[in-house]
Amino acid sequence: MDLADSADLEDNMSTLLALEHISKSYPMANQDVPVLQDITFTVNEGEFVTIMGPSGSGKTTLMHILGCLDVPTEGHYRFHDKDLAHLSEMQLTRVRREHIGFVFQNFNLLTTLNALENVTLPLIYQRLSRHEQQRRAREALARVGLEHRLTYRPNQLSGGQQQRVAIARALVTRPPLILADEPTGNLDSQTGLEVLQLFQELSQEGHTIVMITHDRDVAKWGHRILEIKDGRIVADREVNR
Ligand code: ADP
Ligand code: MG
Repeated sequence: MDLADSADLEDNMSTLLALEHISKSYPMANQDVPVLQDITFTVNEGEFVTIMGPSGSGKTTLMHILGCLDVPTEGHYRFHDKDLAHLSEMQLTRVRREHIGFVFQNFNLLTTLNALENVTLPLIYQRLSRHEQQRRAREALARVGLEHRLTYRPNQLSGGQQQRVAIARALVTRPPLILADEPTGNLDSQTGLEVLQLFQELSQEGHTIVMITHDRDVAKWGHRILEIKDGRIVADREVNR
């Protein structure tokens, strides 16, 4: 591909989400404590972005805003060109269900349900037959290599397998955005690598991924690293490969 073509390609990439001058503060005793300050960045469809920063820098707060689990104090959050910054609780819930797949550090699986049931759960809000729900959940579990563990409950699975069930659950609604908060934080390093490889494959398949981490070696798996410090973005760079 020559340079002109690749420039065209970049022009054609569409913006999935845009944060514009986002701030978040929490009311404490007699003053507001700022946690995020003037955060502005965009994520294009198909990007694999990592947000890296030390403990206490505001990563989880930012993830909650990106994931519509919380709203900013100031600024705009555009998702597919719709401003989400000031939606009601019910509207935010809908955006979450329909547009975002979550992966957490501690997997957040329901312990009384087996793998297939956990992955089927996000589909109960969609008008699908039970048969179709199960077909999609099986397909998502096969994608993460767990087609042979459908009836296992979380405590019968290793940490890496539990995280793969959680990733299948994030994928099953085919959301435009996958948000992962320290997804390898509870895994040993070999298992963590396997999970990062899986994210990389999902990225190659076209998924948009935003992954949060405090770990520079984990951050490098993204194609672009945003660094956050004291609630501000202090660097935004492409990763050279
Ligand atoms: P990180 O995930 O990078 O470790 P957090 O987003 O969890 O950081 O927290 C950033 C800062 O915001 C911390 O100083 C934390 O104490 C503060 N903070 C987070 N949530 C609240 C809250 N609900 N009320 C008051 N302060 C909070
Ligand atoms: Mg955190």
